[in-house]
Amino acid sequence: MANSEDRNEQNMKDSGSGIPAAVQKTPQTNVPEKKNQNRNFYRRNRNFKRYNQKQNQTPGLNLTNKIISIVIPLYNEEESIVELSIALKKVLEGLRANYEVIFIDDGSTDNSFNKIKEVNRVNSRFKCIKFRRNYGKSAALQQGFKAAKGDYIITMDSDLQDDPDEIPALIEKLNEGYDLVSGWKKVRHDPFIKNQTSKIFNLVTSIMVGLRLHDYNCGLKAYVKDVVKNIKVYGEMHRYIPALAFLSGFRVTEIPVTHHERKYGKTKFGISRFFNGFFDLSTVLFTNKYIKRPLHFFGSIGLLSFVAGFGVLLYLTIMKFAESIPIEGRPLFFIAILFTIVGAQFFSLGLIAEMITKSSVEIDNIIIDKTLI
Ligand code: UDP
Ligand code: MG
Repeated sequence: MANSEDRNEQNMKDSGSGIPAAVQKTPQTNVPEKKNQNRNFYRRNRNFKRYNQKQNQTPGLNLTNKIISIVIPLYNEEESIVELSIALKKVLEGLRANYEVIFIDDGSTDNSFNKIKEVNRVNSRFKCIKFRRNYGKSAALQQGFKAAKGDYIITMDSDLQDDPDEIPALIEKLNEGYDLVSGWKKVRHDPFIKNQTSKIFNLVTSIMVGLRLHDYNCGLKAYVKDVVKNIKVYGEMHRYIPALAFLSGFRVTEIPVTHHERKYGKTKFGISRFFNGFFDLSTVLFTNKYIKRPLHFFGSIGLLSFVAGFGVLLYLTIMKFAESIPIEGRPLFFIAILFTIVGAQFFSLGLIAEMITKSSVEIDNIIIDKTLI
């Protein structure tokens, strides 16, 4: 952050209504003493211990020497930032791991950046990258991925709809051997129309991609480092990150997560999300699944269309000679011609695309998992 040198005691005292003090780093000094106290307490209250473990839901989550990076894209969300930071700090310090929180201010025109500055003054683990203008959520995520130093990267929205309490469960799932764990807003608090269109969107995407997820576009996701350093998110491609990762060979899964209603401000995506979503799915499929074998894509459409058209023409010809039914003037005749020509065109389009692919010097985008060299 630009003026991190400003950080001094005076600033901490002046840091506003006292709220940001809650995000201050807590020195973990009297730990052994506290541990003893806890042990005695648990000995006396066995039931409480069991209850308490259930609440934390992170038994056995060992994050020693691990860094967690939280990446948060935001656009005009001034009301949520302090509240979110306090909640995050509580969860992350509970995990006893090294952490950083990277806010990506996507060209906010409100007071968002000043709010982040306030938080950064009292806790330098909360960082910020501010864009000069609004580039979109995908660009913000991509910059966050680039900057993240963590072994685990968590992305979440800044509008308090995603719950920081889900972070331990997401990391636990990663530890089971997954590379990407996507949140699934099983009980969703969004407008009816959005919920329904989203169901269709998720079903279509699942079928096309070959990976069944109920909620591709959940803001809350966890990644291992390899994923975020290898995939490129641009345009409005953030909706398809699990698809991009899956098609690149990463192990992807989902877990149900709590979702809240938007507390402040309003959604930043209008009706255009539906159209753009469709175009982006075509791009994802094309650039990941078929880019190195375009003839498989165009060729199969072409062949199907050609065979259908040709079959009908053959049928009409047989009918003409066998039953003396005239071909001319029948609508079926024109449709069959159309199908045959379109089919041949698709096929040749595939061939041309194949030639371009073969002559391109670009090396395959191979992601290496492990080596024994
Ligand atoms: N966002 C962003 N840049 C944009 C639009 C949105 O960084 O151009 C952020 C926004 O501030 C929020 C997250 O992306 O933190 C999700 O946006 P929103 O809550 O509006 O989406 P919804 O929940 O309605 O899908
Ligand atoms: Mg939202």
